[in-house]
Amino acid sequence: MSERPIRAPRAEPREVVELKQLKVAQPELASAVDMQLALVEVQRRVQSRVPLPWIQPDPEWLAAQQLAGRPAVRFTDIPLDWTDFRLTLRQTADILHRYEALDRAEHHQIQALAREGNALEALVSKWYTATSGVDPSVARHSSPDGSLPSLDQVLVLALRPFLARCAEALGQRSDLSLWHYGHCPFCGWEPDFAVITPAADRRLICGRCLAQWTFGVHTCPFCSNDDRALVTSFATRDGRYRVYACDVCRRYLKAYDGRNASRSVLVAVDSIATLPLDAAAIQKGYVG
Ligand SMILES: [Zn+2]
Ligand SMILES: [Zn+2]
Repeated sequence: MSERPIRAPRAEPREVVELKQLKVAQPELASAVDMQLALVEVQRRVQSRVPLPWIQPDPEWLAAQQLAGRPAVRFTDIPLDWTDFRLTLRQTADILHRYEALDRAEHHQIQALAREGNALEALVSKWYTATSGVDPSVARHSSPDGSLPSLDQVLVLALRPFLARCAEALGQRSDLSLWHYGHCPFCGWEPDFAVITPAADRRLICGRCLAQWTFGVHTCPFCSNDDRALVTSFATRDGRYRVYACDVCRRYLKAYDGRNASRSVLVAVDSIATLPLDAAAIQKGYVG
């Protein structure tokens, strides 16, 4: 009789390990950490199934897009498997509802939407075109009229595993040296976080596809204000995180200070670890 080989437990991803440590160190963040762990699990599972797309934009078209501040990823470039997307949308909405980030009525509406075949596809395509600004004939704006306010949040998370693969595919060979805009060069969304590199550059991180691009340290990505006297910056006591708040448009952006750090930025962890910084910025009258 042969014994079954004992398999070593699969190593947990770094962000999962760090999120669990964060929960022990800061128990007041437990609920936010648990929600993030659930979202990370869904994202990782889906993303592992999404193939790296072969995106080969015409160089002239791409140069014109970049010059005009328009992103590179068209909706048809996204390797969307609708069955997978619908599942991701439903699971994301379930998690947000479970942790009270989505009310019952909105949860029902999104569940119903996920079941509708053609309506969902048309809506997601329209939403991406409107929010990316990729099409020169459609001005970039936050959301198409008449959509649920919380739908943005759910769509951003559900589309991320697919869109992140586009950013991955294009990021390897894109020259972003001429991209000086505050929005994402790949999907046109706003930055949601930033990282200060050991060379003291600041890289913005897209809130939708997680792509990174270099941007002026003291320039506001939301309104382009670059008057240093009108950018308020403050750090956590341990110097690990920093907030840049704009005194013109009143918006702020959080950053991970990688200059003396032992690891690179982990957005899934750092965005939760900095929730107390959000509270501090909001208390000073800034908006996220
Ligand atoms: Zn993006
Ligand atoms: Zn601003």
